[in-house]
Amino acid sequence: MTELGSNLTNPKSKVASAPDFGLSTLNFGLSTLDSSLLVHVCCGECVAAILEPLRCVGAFTPFFHNPNIQPLLEFRRRAKSVQVLAEQERLDAVVDMAYDPKAFLRAVPWDRPERCLACYRMRLGETARVAAERGCTAITTTLLVSVHQYHAAVRAIGEEEAAARGLSFHYEDWRPLAAHGLQEAKRRSLYRQQYCGCIFSEEERFAPTRVHLFRGGAAARRDNTGGDA
Ligand code: SF4
Repeated sequence: MTELGSNLTNPKSKVASAPDFGLSTLNFGLSTLDSSLLVHVCCGECVAAILEPLRCVGAFTPFFHNPNIQPLLEFRRRAKSVQVLAEQERLDAVVDMAYDPKAFLRAVPWDRPERCLACYRMRLGETARVAAERGCTAITTTLLVSVHQYHAAVRAIGEEEAAARGLSFHYEDWRPLAAHGLQEAKRRSLYRQQYCGCIFSEEERFAPTRVHLFRGGAAARRDNTGGDA
């Protein structure tokens, strides 16, 4: 595994045997793909969702590059989940550990959908650049798995950024595999994020809820005295 930036500790590598989700019967058209494919990956769960169709391609390289993820510990958790999966599956992943929230917040508009479109372009543009540098001929992205993204925009921006580097963008609608990714993440004990990635999306996810981290009052007093919460 190639890691850009600081090291994380070695992940565990043993996984229970995979249940049969019948994915081998699904045809996502990947058999026609060139094998020199750089796959932009956003998290372990979304990679796990499409492992089987990607394996139909032959060789592929997962590329974690997500300067949109904040704060730092959340960024590290998601990078680690990709490292864990890569080690479990013996994939030669490239993990970019550079963390620079100031650069991201300066580069994107702060409201949706413009913010997300700029975010896609940032990530897929860098994926295309690295793919061209490595001699790959095609790119794709696990953002095509998520039911929460602007799917058509991911495709359009991916195609534009790939073409700008003389590459092709492989498009598949992998959204039907999102639930499979969740099952695989649970089975493999991969980290599962609760919001899209940027600090704005964290607010959008939790502001309408009562979720909080500090439990005050009676619950905290019970915790401090060893009682049941
Ligand atoms: S909500 Fe998600 S896709 Fe949109 S800018 Fe934030 S991290 Fe990027």
